[in-house]
Amino acid sequence: MSPTPLLRVENLRVHFPVQRSLFSKPEAWVRAVENVSFTLRTGETIGLLGESGCGKTTLGRAILRLGPVTAGSIHFDGTDITHLEGRALREHRRRFQMIFQDPFSSLNPRFTAGQIVGEALEIHHLVKDSAARDRRISELLESVGLDPRLADRFPHEFSGGQRQRIGIARALAVEPQLIVCDEPVSALDVSVQAQVVNLLQDLQKQRGLAYLFISHDLAVVEHLAHRILVMYLGQVMEEAPAGGLSQQPLHPYSQALISAVPTVDTASKRRRIVLSGDPPSPLSPPTGCPFHPRCPVAQPRCRTETPMLRDLGEGRRVACHLV
Ligand code: SF4
Repeated sequence: MSPTPLLRVENLRVHFPVQRSLFSKPEAWVRAVENVSFTLRTGETIGLLGESGCGKTTLGRAILRLGPVTAGSIHFDGTDITHLEGRALREHRRRFQMIFQDPFSSLNPRFTAGQIVGEALEIHHLVKDSAARDRRISELLESVGLDPRLADRFPHEFSGGQRQRIGIARALAVEPQLIVCDEPVSALDVSVQAQVVNLLQDLQKQRGLAYLFISHDLAVVEHLAHRILVMYLGQVMEEAPAGGLSQQPLHPYSQALISAVPTVDTASKRRRIVLSGDPPSPLSPPTGCPFHPRCPVAQPRCRTETPMLRDLGEGRRVACHLV
């Protein structure tokens, strides 16, 4: 793993306006991502863990410049890409790709597998002629464990796992350095999930890819990620090395998440922490600690003072007054 960060995200914010019409003034702002900072190295996987609606996907899209950035900065391979536009952005786009949750709706049903994979090769002028294009498509399909003879088939003729493999081959076509994987296995059967996760790990070893792996499934994230960021209401509550989080979650929200994971270890004394209520709306987030309305150990100061994400050493950062 390279010591220099491939990706550096600093104080990133994504706010969406709530407007009556396109030209009216915003009546309020949805604070989808608030002050998120982290680095990601070549060959490394960071898992983004949290309930749905916590801002994981918005953060992933903002990093790939597929969504708006309100404030903060994104440095990719030494270049500030936060405000890149037009041709400069297109040139960088080749270097980061996304794999989507639903392998069916993310593939054009009118294109064959070969056309889906080959489209990016043509857009970015990566092949000289049609013979080179066909050879490259075969290589890419083989690299994700698909028979190249299936290149003429349409997405509906493949299983869910095979469709996700086509999505991965499409992402690999442009030889990216970073892939944002947005819940790539949550729509698949459990038996197929393991195959796709193993494929992603093999590809990472072979190509030195960096992954930002978005998921709500702790088991999948712990298996694949080197480090995990736990998000709540658009903010990072805790960062921990994989393994460290389930062994010793420090933030009360992480503790509640981990306690909800079923275990077959009957000797385990793990007590289920049931959180009251639903997560607050990002339209009007609570003052102080965003978790205080549901935190079982909240103190009076938690209502007014926002805890900083403090570095505790050994790869751990926690945003809680009590830790
Ligand atoms: Fe709970 Fe307070 Fe810590 Fe927030 S800062 S997690 S409310 S104890």
